[in-house]
Amino acid sequence: MAYDLDAQSRLSEAEGLALAIGITIAESFVLPVREVRPNLLFGAGQVDNIAIACEQNEAELVVVDGALTPIQQRNLEDKLSRKVIDRTGLILEIFGERAATAEGRLQVELAHLDYQQSRLVRSWTHLERQRGGFGFLGGPGETQIEADRRMIRQRMGRLRKELEQVRKTRGLHRERRERAPWPVVALVGYTNAGKSTLFNYLTGATVMAEDLLFATLDPTMRAIALPGVEKAILSDTVGFISDLPTQLVAAFRATLEEVTSADVICHVRDISNPSTAAQKAQVLDVLRDLGVIDGEGDTSIPILEVWNKWDLLSVDDAEELGEQVEADDDIVAMSALTGDGVDTLLDRLGSMLTRNATLRSFEVP
Ligand code: GDP
Repeated sequence: MAYDLDAQSRLSEAEGLALAIGITIAESFVLPVREVRPNLLFGAGQVDNIAIACEQNEAELVVVDGALTPIQQRNLEDKLSRKVIDRTGLILEIFGERAATAEGRLQVELAHLDYQQSRLVRSWTHLERQRGGFGFLGGPGETQIEADRRMIRQRMGRLRKELEQVRKTRGLHRERRERAPWPVVALVGYTNAGKSTLFNYLTGATVMAEDLLFATLDPTMRAIALPGVEKAILSDTVGFISDLPTQLVAAFRATLEEVTSADVICHVRDISNPSTAAQKAQVLDVLRDLGVIDGEGDTSIPILEVWNKWDLLSVDDAEELGEQVEADDDIVAMSALTGDGVDTLLDRLGSMLTRNATLRSFEVP
């Protein structure tokens, strides 16, 4: 059934997101919500099932891949005696870890505060209603929630000013150049396309010991050797996520801005995914917004498409797509799982960087 397929791929996407911030997943399952319960989201029986799964796995955290109202979140935490986070909370954590530029960090903090603020406001109206709506909590003074709200508003105001300042003196290129005097290859792509697998494969195969410096500074940047290029930086970016909550879009784009200072963009696609064309279109839309692609479709940074998960294609599909790969130098077919095609990828990256070297400030030996 199509519904099951969607639910399953959503589930594996959510697993990917949780893994991205180091959560160990004990158990994951789909719970169909036919009717949203305002108090708990799920029905009572379903909450019991979650509680049993928590007990059996001694889980510390429950991630709900959906939007929880503050009340649902609090009630679930009470019922399950565990911390519960929802999709927006999870994505904010990831963005927080991945924001590499000053602008990215500010945007993520703004989104976080906005999220917190909405939680406070809603909990407050809930309490007010419960207690008859007469400032019962705080007496003549300011309630704790009002004080929290005021602090969040002030902090958001300050962040917006800082953001303006950062934008005025936008030194993104300079910042990245100072941090990495070598050519940068940025991996972009949808969550689950195989970016981390490829990143680990490439760095595992070619990482140089003295450059473990990068491993300690920033787990998403590693030095690799490429044919003709002694040292390049491979940078893993935050993955694209389906159904990104709208209040997170700005934070997401800012988090990705580091891509604009890359020398080559490696667009990793899950070519076996039925939605691969739509996913590509979304990735290109964002690259257009970031100014990497102009109105004419020309790119300021060369883009190499990596058609990953080739091993999952049927023989017929592989044959048909293989012809396109043959005809186009900007496409590489590979499997990050088996390593098939990785040599072609490295060769192609090497020659793209060498070709570009004269246009850029770095030196290629
Ligand atoms: P990311 O979200 O883009 O970083 O994706 P991951 O690297 O976490 O990969 C998502 C899932 O796809 C994981 O279960 C990987 O093992 C799997 N995967 C990645 N590359 C390949 C591939 O080439 N072939 C197959 N069959 N699975 C892959």
